[in-house]
Amino acid sequence: MTRKSIHAWATAVLLLVAPAAGAQRTYLHCGRLLDVRSGKLLSQQTLVVEKDRIVAVQAGYTVASSPQDKVISLENRTVLPGLIDCHVHVLSHPGKGSAINQFTMNPADYAYRALGDALATLRAGFTTVRDLGGEDGVNISLRNAINRGQVVGPRIFTAGAAISATGGHMDEADGLSRDLMEKYGQPANIANGPDQCRQAVREQFKRGADVIKIASTGGVLDLSKDGSGPQYSEEEIRAVVETARDLGLKVACHAHGAEGIKRAVRAGVASIEHGTLMDDQGRDLMRARGTWYVPTIIAGKSVADSARIPGYFAAAVVPKALSIGPLIQASCGKAYKANVKIAFGTDAGVYRHGLNALEFGYMTSAGMPAIEAIRAATVNAADLLGETSNLGTLEAGKLADIVALDGDPLQDISALMHPTFVMKAGVTYRQD
Ligand SMILES: [Zn+2]
Repeated sequence: MTRKSIHAWATAVLLLVAPAAGAQRTYLHCGRLLDVRSGKLLSQQTLVVEKDRIVAVQAGYTVASSPQDKVISLENRTVLPGLIDCHVHVLSHPGKGSAINQFTMNPADYAYRALGDALATLRAGFTTVRDLGGEDGVNISLRNAINRGQVVGPRIFTAGAAISATGGHMDEADGLSRDLMEKYGQPANIANGPDQCRQAVREQFKRGADVIKIASTGGVLDLSKDGSGPQYSEEEIRAVVETARDLGLKVACHAHGAEGIKRAVRAGVASIEHGTLMDDQGRDLMRARGTWYVPTIIAGKSVADSARIPGYFAAAVVPKALSIGPLIQASCGKAYKANVKIAFGTDAGVYRHGLNALEFGYMTSAGMPAIEAIRAATVNAADLLGETSNLGTLEAGKLADIVALDGDPLQDISALMHPTFVMKAGVTYRQD
C-alpha cells in the first residue's frame, strides 16, 4: 500500500466508525429519568441524540463537545420514553350525530380533520399510535405523509379498514334502509367464512396495512342491537390469524363478550381490545397464551357519558353504551390481578384526541400501580407492536422518542396529562 492509499483507507475507516464530521448531537440534561424497566427514577442523566436515535445515556450532565451541538435543559423535569397508544382511530372524531358522517364527508374531509387530531396526539406526548381502523385508506395516506415529514403527527401503525362479518361491528350498512344496504353492504372489509376472511386480510395487506383488526363480537357504536354476542367462528378467526402471520402482520381483535374473546384467543390473535365481559376462563387462556389485553377504559366511560346527552347517539346505541361502557374498568382490574399482559390503548376518536393520558388515571383506579400503567404505554406497547428494538425505553440504539413533564408521575399519575417537552425521532415538537 502506498502512503496515499493508506491515508485514503484510514479516512474511509474513520468515516465508518466515528460520527460523521459535522453530525450534530443534541444533549438532553434530564433532572429525573424514568427507567421504565426497573421502575427507578435516575437523577441527573444526559440523553445523547444523533439524528433520529439515542446514541448514549450518560450519568451526570455531559457538556457539548462541538459548537454545533445543542443542549436542551430538562433539569427540573421527569423524562420518560415517548408514550404509545395501541388503540386509536385517527379518522374518528367525537360529536353529536357523528353516525351520519359517512354520508356527508369525503375522504379529503376526513384527512383535513385528522391533521389537528394527529397534532394534538403528538403534543400530548403520544409519539406512536396503533390506528385500528378507518375508511377509504385515508389512515394509510396519513401515516405515509407523517413518515415523509409532510405533516406533523405521531408515528402511525395502521390497520387500514377493520374486518368484520356481515351485520357485524364494522359493517357500515348496519341499520340502514334496504337500498343503502345494497350500496354499502359488501366492501372489501366485510368477510364471511374462512376464504373471504383470508381474502380480506390480503386486501388490507395489499393496501398497506401494518396490522390486521377484526371484530369477533358486536360493538357499542354500530347500529346493531347487541354488542356482546360472538360474530365470528373460531375457524374464521383462525383463517385471519394464519393469513396475517404469513404476511408478517399481527391481529388485534375487538371483543366485548366472553365467548368471542375466548374464540379469538384460542385462534391466536395478538391482542384483545376492550375485553369488557371477559370471564375467568378467558383470563386464564390469555395468561397461558401470552395474549395482550388493551382495555380502553376511557372509551367505555366516555360513551356512557355521551349516551346521557339526548340525541347524541342513535337510539340503538344508547342502551349498549350505558350497559357495556362502564364495565371495562373492572375488567381491566381483574385482568391485572390475574396477571394478564396489559398494553395501553384508549380508542381515541370515540373521545377527544389528545386526552389519551386520562387512561392512566383510570388504570391506576382499577388497581394497577403507576409504574405498571406507564409500562403498558411504553415497553409493553412496543412489544405488542413488534417494535421493541426501536421503541419503549430510553436506551442507546432506540429511536429518540422522548417526553418530559413537571412532577413525578409515580407519585401523581395525572402529571402525564401535562407534558412540557415532546421529541419524536430526534425532532422537537413541543418545548414549553
Ligand atoms: Zn376502536
